[in-house]
Amino acid sequence: MECQRCPVSGRNLATVESRKEKFCDECFIKFVSTKQRKQMMKDEFFRNLFKVLYPLEKEGSVARILLPLSLSDSGSLAMLDIVHDLLLEQVKQHNNHTGFTVDILTIFTGETVSIVKERMESLVKEKLLKLNKPNIYKVHFIDINEFFSNTSRVSNLIIDDGNFEIFAKSKSVDSGSRLCLREILGEYCLNNSSRTDLTSIIKTQLIKHFAYENDNDAIIWGHSMTKLSEVIISLVVKGKGSQIATFLDSESFDTLDNRPCNYKNLYPMKDLLSVEIESFLQIKSLTRFLINFEETNAKPNCLIAKKSSPLLDQQKLVKNMTINEITTKYFQDIQNDYSNIISTVLRTADKLTEPRSSMTKPSQCQICQSKIYTDPSSWLDRITVTSSCPIETSEEESAFKQWQDSKLGQSHTRYVELLNEIKKDTANNHDVDDKDVKLCYGCLILLNTSVKDKNLIWPEVDTMSSLLSSTKDDKELNEILNQFEINSDREEC
Ligand SMILES: [Zn+2]
Ligand SMILES: [Zn+2]
Repeated sequence: MECQRCPVSGRNLATVESRKEKFCDECFIKFVSTKQRKQMMKDEFFRNLFKVLYPLEKEGSVARILLPLSLSDSGSLAMLDIVHDLLLEQVKQHNNHTGFTVDILTIFTGETVSIVKERMESLVKEKLLKLNKPNIYKVHFIDINEFFSNTSRVSNLIIDDGNFEIFAKSKSVDSGSRLCLREILGEYCLNNSSRTDLTSIIKTQLIKHFAYENDNDAIIWGHSMTKLSEVIISLVVKGKGSQIATFLDSESFDTLDNRPCNYKNLYPMKDLLSVEIESFLQIKSLTRFLINFEETNAKPNCLIAKKSSPLLDQQKLVKNMTINEITTKYFQDIQNDYSNIISTVLRTADKLTEPRSSMTKPSQCQICQSKIYTDPSSWLDRITVTSSCPIETSEEESAFKQWQDSKLGQSHTRYVELLNEIKKDTANNHDVDDKDVKLCYGCLILLNTSVKDKNLIWPEVDTMSSLLSSTKDDKELNEILNQFEINSDREEC
């Protein structure tokens, strides 16, 4: 089988087959990086960010890009590799100048910290240092728990299951009462879907806050077309469909806690399928930098020699999967033969615009920070009957008693007590801030069904203090990058 892209005179053996076309290694790498670069040059704003602009001395002519890198996510690593090659080219063509610098931001948890740092170190030494120019990359690490330790106030949120009204008690936190991720996921979340959702909300918030404080011009996200379609469908399933337009928006500047930001969001990998990204990493032998590379090697790809088949015994039962895992599996299963479905999902979603708001004043969800267009509490209240029918017979009476004594009944009693306590507090407290608590429909449902006692303590992100100062700019790694600066200067002398 020959590559269909090579010149007729000397065709290489095909190694990859994707979208009904056969590629050799070289042509495939070119195919993937062209797709990414096309997105990076999609409009004037991004062209100006990524290109080398003349005159070079002009202030602000070098853009600052934030690249969130997750070493368990193939998309972000492939993106970094292509960005790296672009920088190498610019240095060569523009007499040691580049159009932009890159802040690489990795969020870690206590459990992953050592392996993340180890892999990052080899990535810096084996790859990033190949760029013969200092101060292009800066490596940052954030502990995910900064989300809790950086905010000075938290809201104790609870939902009234009678009419879906939300009550919140705001309180300040001191060092003794700091929350941590483990506590939230272990004590509050009732299932894996809510754990995944809250973790991903935290990560996104941290990345955006970092970009805001660090004055970045753009955040480039490593989502593939497959991944974006997964997110879109998951948002719809979770009742967060109204967020799709803002999520995909790469034309407007972002807003954070109602403050305008100087950065835009971009998805440079959005024209690539995840099987293509996996194959790209394998061909360029980059999987060794990933934390779960054994797993990655078994992921579906489109290499001709190494068609992988997911191991049956490793497949989870559907009922044990999170909503995200179910949609991921669906898109992974169809992407080899029906990739057009994936692009249709994305193209359709791309056409969506923000819904018209029926709110009297702009509101944001206290948990996920997304805009709220319709008040979900009153809508749910209108369509749901929550009152129970009265007890009439002695049989019903004893059944009710039994229920009250059961675990479920006891937990309900606890919930009612907590609800009354928070309700009373908010009634006594005439602080204006506490009155207008809003959650989006998706988070309201999450709180109502997947969180213990329908009660969650969540940081008030608008009280987040400087994230930048508590970010571990990794000294060792940046030193390696800087040492290189000294060495390379010497070499030039
Ligand atoms: Zn070829
Ligand atoms: Zn929300």
